[in-house]
Amino acid sequence: MSKSNKTFSFELFPPKTDKGFENLKKTVGILNQKSPEFFSVTYGAGGSTQDTTFKTVDWLREEGIETAPHLSCIGSSSNEILDILNRYRNQGIKRIVALRGDLPSGAGLGSLGDLNYANELVELMRADFGDEFIIEVAAYPEFHPQATSAQDDLSNFKRKVISGANSAITQYFYSADAYFAFVDNCEKSGITIPIVPGIMPITNYTQLARFSDACGAEIPRWIRKRLESYGDDIDSIKAFGKEVVTAMCQRLLDNNVPGLHFYTMNQSAPTLAIWDDLNL
Ligand code: FAD
Repeated sequence: MSKSNKTFSFELFPPKTDKGFENLKKTVGILNQKSPEFFSVTYGAGGSTQDTTFKTVDWLREEGIETAPHLSCIGSSSNEILDILNRYRNQGIKRIVALRGDLPSGAGLGSLGDLNYANELVELMRADFGDEFIIEVAAYPEFHPQATSAQDDLSNFKRKVISGANSAITQYFYSADAYFAFVDNCEKSGITIPIVPGIMPITNYTQLARFSDACGAEIPRWIRKRLESYGDDIDSIKAFGKEVVTAMCQRLLDNNVPGLHFYTMNQSAPTLAIWDDLNL
């Protein structure tokens, strides 16, 4: 299968410990052999992971690897955001994943910062940096958990596109139909930027279920039931997870998605297992 016209990318989170960082280096060493378009690095809202995100980005850049730092605006001032963007520009970074982010529960309104939504961050970036960055934004085929309605969520996604986003990466999902329906609605409302599916390998049911409930990603009942039935049998969870996610990726690729973005969770094996089965 030719990957020439598709964008494949891998997402990392900034490790907190030296051991985690060593593991990240190994993961990147392995996944980089697949020649992805870029590695992205997440960023905690309000700058909570700023030091570790910078450390991870700095290392990737030293290795000459195309890097797309995530940048969330909630809880930060515009000047803080601009300082970070200047730093990235000076490092030769070309691509940013621009997000609102989430404040920790219990944070007061006073901690919101200057920008309330991701479209305002995209606007700020375009106003101050013109076309210097390729701007990726988040998209939610199963809708953002705080969305007031499906239509409002689509309109809000469109705001980011109008503000200057080049491309979008979706929240993960396990229903290709949800993605196709979302893209269809986007096209009907005049959104033409590439919308790259975010792919989350399945390696652990309890964690995935908790995380999915929080971020509004649905695990279809038949998948939940099968995963539940394996209990603590991690090998069976991984084997079934690989089968399900690979089949979904294949269907997405057969239907001309613009690429795939893997949420690696800093592990190479689950992503590679899917990648190799897809013969990418
Ligand atoms: P927005 O696009 O601003 O949307 C947030 C909510 O507000 C939606 O319900 C939307 O409908 C509504 N809304 C948007 N604009 C407006 C407006 N102008 N007026 C009224 N309502 C509006 N989180 C992190 O903390 N760090 C990360 O590195 C990170 N990386 C991510 C990467 C991807 C690919 C994805 C899909 C998510 C990521 N997240 C990350 C999670 C993300 O920060 C949360 O989902 C957050 O709640 C929303 O961010 P957003 O950029 O999508 O927000």
